[in-house]
Amino acid sequence: MKLGARRLAAVRESATLLVQKAAQALRDRGVDVIDLGVGEPDFETPKPIADAIDAALYAGHTKYTPTIGLPELRSAIAGRYQDLYGGAFTAASVAVTVGAKQALYNLFLALLEPGDEVLVPTPCWVSFPSQVLLVGASPRLIPCRPESRFVIEADAIAAALTPRSRMLILNSPCNPTGAVIPRATLAAIVDLVRERDMFLVFDETYEHFVFEGEGHVSAASFHRELGERLIVVNSFSKTYAMTGLRAGFVVADPEVVKGVASIQSHTTSNPTSIVQYGAMAAIRSSRDSIAWMVEEYRRRRQMTIDGLAGIPGVDLAPPGGAFYAFPRVVGAMQRLGITGGSVELASRLLDEAHVAVVPGLAFEFEGFLRLSFAANPDALREGLRRLKSFLTS
Ligand code: PLP
Repeated sequence: MKLGARRLAAVRESATLLVQKAAQALRDRGVDVIDLGVGEPDFETPKPIADAIDAALYAGHTKYTPTIGLPELRSAIAGRYQDLYGGAFTAASVAVTVGAKQALYNLFLALLEPGDEVLVPTPCWVSFPSQVLLVGASPRLIPCRPESRFVIEADAIAAALTPRSRMLILNSPCNPTGAVIPRATLAAIVDLVRERDMFLVFDETYEHFVFEGEGHVSAASFHRELGERLIVVNSFSKTYAMTGLRAGFVVADPEVVKGVASIQSHTTSNPTSIVQYGAMAAIRSSRDSIAWMVEEYRRRRQMTIDGLAGIPGVDLAPPGGAFYAFPRVVGAMQRLGITGGSVELASRLLDEAHVAVVPGLAFEFEGFLRLSFAANPDALREGLRRLKSFLTS
């Protein structure tokens, strides 16, 4: 009997989660592994958020909630977007989901037909192409240029368009490269999206983590130009160090939100009731409450830049945002005689130097590695030391 549907052949298990598993397996054998693979803040969830979840639990908020979230949470999210960008964002424009990952999957199920093409600049987060494939659509990968620090250009998108192009996914700041799309570039892309009448799915999971330049520019600031084509996806996971609590959201045209709600009503139903109270505390907190995290990431980013500097055959364009470094390691692989690409290098780093990193191939870009600097600073320092020692051996 065939134990798996055909669609399983279209995807592999998330490479970042696989690295996490391999690192854990080594740890279980007593090996001291430094994990720079997983994109997870080492901070504790801020106390006001934890307290709100705790209070909700003991107040008995443990029943089903409306499918796409508590009305007051949806209003609070809409209010934040309205405050920041103006526009007619209301509770009806918001769906709360079980993480940004579910937000994206629901959107693809709600909007894409089999055969539709979805433009995805690469390097890209591992789940974008897999989710698109799972719903029967086709990802069309558009390589960004390392020389442009991986910022996608409108011309590259224009050149990749076909009559079947239905959606463009942008992720700024970007996982894995840290690339931040500047306003002028985004404006040119918005023009193109309008001309071609496509959806723009703008994933701003890392919106708060920008370390240089003009700061984060959200596609939500182009709500007038984009109208119903604008879809913002965001997450509480990274901003508020609450990855395991699973809370994310979509901000979109109310018709699109209805589609998301319909899918969600048959899959997870509501996101966890008490977590929504934590999310409410998070969205109502001031931006200052996370400023210290941003400063800490800035320090760790510099540690990573310094730690990788001077390793022969390793070239890093300093990441503008997010909490990842994505160095080119082609020269180092040549020196070490590694012929199996970034997958072999990452696997040897784990087995021999006991450092977990993610191969660039997982992000559809060979010759690079991704290191997360959301790790604890002591672990980061030691991980960088081991990496350097292995690569210079
Ligand atoms: N989008 C991007 C770009 C990410 O990097 C991640 C997580 O790594 C997600 C979405 C998923 O976030 P969540 O934990 O909210 O599902």
